[in-house]
Amino acid sequence: MKKKKFNSGLLQVEFVCPKCGKKLAWALPSSEMNCPKCGTWVNVHNRKVENNLYLPLDDDQMVLFV
Ligand SMILES: [Zn+2]
Repeated sequence: MKKKKFNSGLLQVEFVCPKCGKKLAWALPSSEMNCPKCGTWVNVHNRKVENNLYLPLDDDQMVLFV
């Protein structure tokens, strides 16, 4: 029997544009994406943090870190 492993390195964060506030997508913290609305490049360092929710890649369940 294989046990499901929880890998904390595979957690996705919500990318929200820091300029216009548009919610872009859930992605790995190493990702970078371009806001289609205002053209701002959003990465994990400048993203607007609306909450501290993290979404594991292999699960639909939300995990809250406080
Ligand atoms: Zn934007």
